[in-house]
Amino acid sequence: MKVLGYNQVFLGNSPAKAPALYSLMTWVDFGLGVKFPRGGIYRFVESLHSIAQQEGVQFIFNSEIIGVQTQQNVVKALQTSNGVIHADAFLATTDYSWFESLLPRNKRCYSERYWKQKSLAPTAFWAYVGLDTHLPDSVHHNLFLSDSWDSHFDSIFSHRVWPQNPSFYFAAPCKTDPSLCPDGKDSLFLLVPVAPGLEDSEEQREKLFRDTLNRLEEILAIPLQQHIAFHKIVAHREFRAMGLREGTTFGLAHTLFQSAFFRPRRKSKKLTK
Ligand SMILES: Cc1cc2nc3c(=O)[nH]c(=O)nc-3n(C[C@H](O)[C@H](O)[C@H](O)COP(=O)(O)OP(=O)(O)OC[C@H]3O[C@@H](n4cnc5c(N)ncnc54)[C@H](O)[C@@H]3O)c2cc1C
Repeated sequence: MKVLGYNQVFLGNSPAKAPALYSLMTWVDFGLGVKFPRGGIYRFVESLHSIAQQEGVQFIFNSEIIGVQTQQNVVKALQTSNGVIHADAFLATTDYSWFESLLPRNKRCYSERYWKQKSLAPTAFWAYVGLDTHLPDSVHHNLFLSDSWDSHFDSIFSHRVWPQNPSFYFAAPCKTDPSLCPDGKDSLFLLVPVAPGLEDSEEQREKLFRDTLNRLEEILAIPLQQHIAFHKIVAHREFRAMGLREGTTFGLAHTLFQSAFFRPRRKSKKLTK
């Protein structure tokens, strides 16, 4: 049951409280299967980029949107860190509440009070780890389900604190595609679901990283930490810097009353383009 329910956390729910409809996510994983593009997930981004370019799409990278110029009920231009962009119409794909915060108050569809009343999904504590050795006894996708199942979900959904002894996911993508690692080496991606809005001090990040590695060492029975050639942690502060509310990667939780037509409307009622 735990294996079947765990992925609800990525929709923003505790498995005990998730609407039954979302068991379709479990069907996606177990019924349809999981795919992985050769060359890694980023190959997918590169392929889309290349196809779009062939179709004449122009990309502007490394330009942060810092202002939105409106005229009556139309967005006229975006002000970015590298100049102004004019277009006939705009589609915002950044965090909704953050994008609206750039608009004049009378052009926003939802107030700050509205966003504050919404339940946010958990966020993710990530670590990218490069190893100077092969990882034994693991497959591409691995779930470690801890004995502290309930208290982990309580730490996310009720108490909003850093978890103790949490369940976690780890991926070893070189098991599927050895071209992703140098010969004789391996890479690991660790993901621990955690509450949004936490202060992620250096000390706290390092603690959760080391605790998770200690548990992995017990599971895999190898001194993993001696073999770390590189590691990079990504958590709340990096996600906040991307404009994600309270540093949550997964946005608004998919509770019943935040699903389907209860979610914020994608089309603005105040702006036509
Ligand atoms: C750990 C994890 C696992 C997931 N697994 C799956 C899965 O298995 N299957 C699935 O279907 N989905 C999955 N998702 C969800 C999926 O990744 C998202 O739904 C998808 O990436 C959303 O795409 P998007 O283009 O709308 O937004 P994003 O990918 O968030 O893109 C928004 C972009 O806006 C940029 N931006 C933000 N602020 C500014 C600014 N001021 N100026 C300019 N640019 C800005 C950001 O840098 C970002 O590049 C997962 C998400 C996470 C976090």
